[in-house]
Amino acid sequence: MPVRSTDLIQHPYTPPAGFSAPQPGVYKASTVIFPNVAALRARDWKHKTGYTYGLHGTPTTFQLEERIATLEGAKHCLLVPSGLAAIANVDLSLLSVGDEVLIPDNVYGPSKTLAEGELAQWGITHRYYDPMDPAAFEKLLGPKTRLVWLEAPGSVTMEFPPLAQFIEACRRRGITTALDNTWGAGLAFNGFDLGQGSGADIVVQALTKYPSGGGDVLMGSVCTRDDDLHTQLKMTHMRLGLGVGANDVELVLRSLPSIAVRYRAHDVSARQLAAWLGGRPEIAAVLHPALEGSPGHEHWRAVCGGQGLAAGLFSVVFHERYPAARVDRFCDALKLFKLGYSWGGPVSLVVPYNLPSMRTASLGTWAHKGILVRFSVGLEEAEDLRADLEQALAALG
Ligand SMILES: *Cc1c(COP(=O)(O)O)cnc(C)c1O
Repeated sequence: MPVRSTDLIQHPYTPPAGFSAPQPGVYKASTVIFPNVAALRARDWKHKTGYTYGLHGTPTTFQLEERIATLEGAKHCLLVPSGLAAIANVDLSLLSVGDEVLIPDNVYGPSKTLAEGELAQWGITHRYYDPMDPAAFEKLLGPKTRLVWLEAPGSVTMEFPPLAQFIEACRRRGITTALDNTWGAGLAFNGFDLGQGSGADIVVQALTKYPSGGGDVLMGSVCTRDDDLHTQLKMTHMRLGLGVGANDVELVLRSLPSIAVRYRAHDVSARQLAAWLGGRPEIAAVLHPALEGSPGHEHWRAVCGGQGLAAGLFSVVFHERYPAARVDRFCDALKLFKLGYSWGGPVSLVVPYNLPSMRTASLGTWAHKGILVRFSVGLEEAEDLRADLEQALAALG
């Protein structure tokens, strides 16, 4: 008799319980099977008390959520399909028609694109603020201000803002604050606890970067300490269907145990290379919050500590005598540093930026005239990376 497909699909074997291995098992499901009708009717997807549907959580997603909550010093965590989806989850959950969101001028670029696109389309207004000017910021706060975004340091130009001053101005007025903590990764500082009782209400992170660590996963997290805020965010997460794939969760669970050592290694190499570039005549400025003279260095020191951590990311501004075409030639001449967006993986990356198109000129946050190039320092030998920079500088011409 040939095998009956039913016997393959509904197989009676169950492996013995008690299996244990360094990495947790991976559960994949859209459908979750209930033992009886009563259990199906009693389903509760809002709390981590059981399982109802893949979108609402599996043992695999629950485990990563709990670990990321620990990393961020949070009580709750939601996983979403990208860092940008984390930003969108927060915006769409908290903002309605007539509300205004304030966004730092040096924010992760696509956060602006979302505000200028869908948020504007839905009657939600936005303004960009100077992340280094809390006094000017405070004047922008009004009855329509519902949400304020923070990022430390800002993307590309790396200014480290006085976070607590912005947060306290919001707290006095009951305005919710959300911090993009991708750079700090939960390691350089705690976004919920910046000292003196100050901290953001919501902390998001692109897990795509250091938690993944491979340059091969897109994922984001939305963390809170407040039960009601978490429930509100979770409702939006459910209604928008922002589920994550179990294979991607598995990759982040695999990488997370080494995040602290990787982050330190990226940091050590980046500081060496940033300091070396700072001594080169072609470079007008090095933007790295842990280096003296960088914008907001004193705020980095206050939040992360004098011996604190600082990721593997920095930018340089070329002397203005080098036009864009010559800086492009430098980037093209690099061999170990690859041209590419994102960061946090083992491969070092470089991107030249056209800064004037990215910043609101009226805010005056940006002083330099030369071309800006951002480096993400990977895990190659720092000495090899330095040699690569040196030969590419020679090609600058
Ligand atoms: C990369 C990044 C994001 C977006 O993450 P994706 O997973 O690429 O969508 C958000 N914020 C910051 C600061 C980032 O660097």
